[in-house]
Amino acid sequence: MVNQRWMEKADRVIMHTYGRQPLVLVKGEGCRVWDEAGKTYLDFVAGLAVCNLGHAHPAVARAAAAQLDKLVHVSNLYYTTPQIELAEDLVRLTFADRVFFCNSGAEAIEAAIKLSRRWAATRFGPGRHRIVCMANSFHGRTLGALSATGQDKFWQGFEPLLPGFAFVPFNDLESLKAAVDDSVCAVMLEPIQGEGGVKPADPDFLPAVRRLCNERSVLLVFDEVQTGLGRTGRLFAHERFGVAPDIMAIAKALANGLPMGALLAKEEAAQAFVPGTHASTFGGGPVIAAAARAALEILSNSDFLASVREKGEYLGEQLRRLQNRFPAIQEVRGVGLMWGFDLNTEGAPLVAACRQRGLLVNCTQNTVIRLLPPLTIERAELDEGLAILTAALETLST
Ligand SMILES: *Cc1c(COP(=O)(O)O)cnc(C)c1O
Repeated sequence: MVNQRWMEKADRVIMHTYGRQPLVLVKGEGCRVWDEAGKTYLDFVAGLAVCNLGHAHPAVARAAAAQLDKLVHVSNLYYTTPQIELAEDLVRLTFADRVFFCNSGAEAIEAAIKLSRRWAATRFGPGRHRIVCMANSFHGRTLGALSATGQDKFWQGFEPLLPGFAFVPFNDLESLKAAVDDSVCAVMLEPIQGEGGVKPADPDFLPAVRRLCNERSVLLVFDEVQTGLGRTGRLFAHERFGVAPDIMAIAKALANGLPMGALLAKEEAAQAFVPGTHASTFGGGPVIAAAARAALEILSNSDFLASVREKGEYLGEQLRRLQNRFPAIQEVRGVGLMWGFDLNTEGAPLVAACRQRGLLVNCTQNTVIRLLPPLTIERAELDEGLAILTAALETLST
């Protein structure tokens, strides 16, 4: 097997940080990817909510290619036009007044932690540096982001973590009220916990958190690294809840597969960063910023977002049908094209059964099957994926 040979090589030279699927992928187009042996797969993972416009989107590819010929990198010692234009787009499309660019979700979270602490230090003096986060959250793997992640399985062997984080159960307002005292500068949460198993905030929770943050003068930070950029059928998931944060971390789909993260903030919070306080060598580089602008133009289109909501409702309906048919499926949760369902058994065999039949799906939290297809998916492709998922579920129950 061609795939096998590459996997053996990888096993010798790449660090063992990933439990990977046994697939070597060489090509992607739209909602499909090809492996080394030439087999194609319908991709309901989309690089973990990254390729929201599908693989090899021509507008993104053209924008990046054109910029590659012009100017690739000069550092943030200088201004570059794609970065400025992208920031203007993001400010126009969101609650935010200013943007800081970086290269990943974890880095955007690091920036959010630093900005929150510095805002409080500037405004109130020392002693107000703690951040209240949610149990079961996921904010990334760098030491700061890891310290904000409310799952101790990710901490093992890496302690001591960064001090100054407290955790309360997600959707538990009373616990949050008790935790937000004078030592706290910010509350940080994902509007829908992604890695944690596709768990949405209760409709009343985010407005109540917003009010609490206002009352106690603490910043509200949303991690929309996974939920942002059209994934939920709105440009950002918080729009569904009618609540805006003070600071928001985004990344994943921002440049449709090229690495980019960003921190967005209201003016008052953003003022806490002054020259010399934070930086990224690659952040907001011209090629990635040009690609992100092209992606954002499509992702923010209202007809496009309406089509995501429509396809999402259809996918949700079909998953609930499967739930009625297969007792292995417990709860079905999701919105837009971000869906998950709990199995009463380990998810890995179902992921493998889908893969063998030509469908890529992801499993998180051991028993939650997560579906994150490209937002550009056609109805016929959704049906094709659902048919494969159904066939794979049949193997579980026999
Ligand atoms: C993926 C993810 C991160 C981390 O992003 P990286 O780019 O892998 O560092 C942070 N927060 C959420 C909600 C995520 O889904």
